[in-house]
Amino acid sequence: MSLHDIGEFGLIEQLRRSVRQGPGVKIGIGDDCAALEVPAGELLLVTNDLLLENVHFRRDWIDLADLGAKSVAVNLSDIAAMGGVPRYLVLGLGLPSSLTLGEIDRFLEGFLGEATANEVSLVGGDTCRAEQFLSVSVTAHGTIPASELVRRKGGRPGDLLYVSGELGGSGLALCQLEAGQKPEPSLACRHFRPRARLSLGRALASRGLVTSMIDLSDGLLADLHHLLAGDSLGAVLYLDKMPVSEAFDRVTARRPEWRNLVFNGGEDYELLFTVPEQQRLEVEKLSEEFDVRITEVGKVKKGGKPVDVLDAAGNPVSVAAAGFRHF
Ligand SMILES: [Mg+2]
Repeated sequence: MSLHDIGEFGLIEQLRRSVRQGPGVKIGIGDDCAALEVPAGELLLVTNDLLLENVHFRRDWIDLADLGAKSVAVNLSDIAAMGGVPRYLVLGLGLPSSLTLGEIDRFLEGFLGEATANEVSLVGGDTCRAEQFLSVSVTAHGTIPASELVRRKGGRPGDLLYVSGELGGSGLALCQLEAGQKPEPSLACRHFRPRARLSLGRALASRGLVTSMIDLSDGLLADLHHLLAGDSLGAVLYLDKMPVSEAFDRVTARRPEWRNLVFNGGEDYELLFTVPEQQRLEVEKLSEEFDVRITEVGKVKKGGKPVDVLDAAGNPVSVAAAGFRHF
C-alpha cells in the first residue's frame, strides 16, 4: 500500500490513533491548532530543525527508524543546551511517492519511540507530497523556569570549559561512509542514533553550575566560537584532554588525517559549557550521577586570538577549522 492509497487524511488519522496524549496536552492532533499548557511562571523554548534528503542524510545510508529518532533527538539537544524540559513536538513531512507506507511507518516508529523515551508528545504538524526527496521538519517546545535559563552568552574569563561524552565519533562514521567503508557499530550509532543530553543539561541549569552552554552540532571549534562570540572572549583547548572513544582511537590510528574530527566533525550532540572554577567538583560529580563522561577540555580567556589549541607541553598547534560540512 502506498501513501496515495490512504491519502494525507488517512495518514493523519493513523497518527492520531497511535499517539498517546501526554501531560499538558489539552488538544493534540486533529484540530486546527494544538492547545498546550505551559507551567505557571516558566518560559516557552522553541526550536526547529530541518532534515533534507541528500543535504543532511542519504536514504540509502540511514534506516528510516533511525532518521525518525534522530529528527527528534537533534531538536531535543537544543532544549538540553538551554537547560529546559522538552514537552511538545510538531512534525512537518514532505513525502516523495517513492516512499512506501511501510517506510513511513518505520520513520514514525523511530520518531514516536524517541519522543516517548523522552516523555515528549507529538501534538500536530503537516504532511505534503514532495516531488522527489524526503524532507523532515521538526519543531520542539520545551519549558524552563525563567531564572534557570542558560544561554550561549555568559561565559567569563577564567571559566573552565567542559564537554559531555565523546567527540568526533559521528563525523568519523560519516567520513567512513563517504570513503565506502562500513563504520563500526559504536560509531554508526553516534551518527545515526544520537541522544540528547537532557538530564545533564537540566541538572547543570537547575543547580546553577554553568555560565553558558551550547550543544555540539557543527563541531567543537565552530560551536565554541558561537559560545565566545559577542563577549570578546577567547579560549585555550587542551589537545591531549579531548575525550574520544576506543573505536575513534582505533580507526584514526590507521587514518591520522581523520583525527581532527574531534575539533570539526559535526553532529556530536554533546554539551559544551563554561563553569566557574569553584563549581569544578560539583560538575565533575555529575559524571557518576548521569553515567556520562564530563571532561575539562580548556579554559575561557580574555580576547586575543579566539582559540588556541595547546599540546601536552603547552605549545600552540594548528588545527584546520573546517567546521561541519552538510553531508
Ligand atoms: Mg544547538
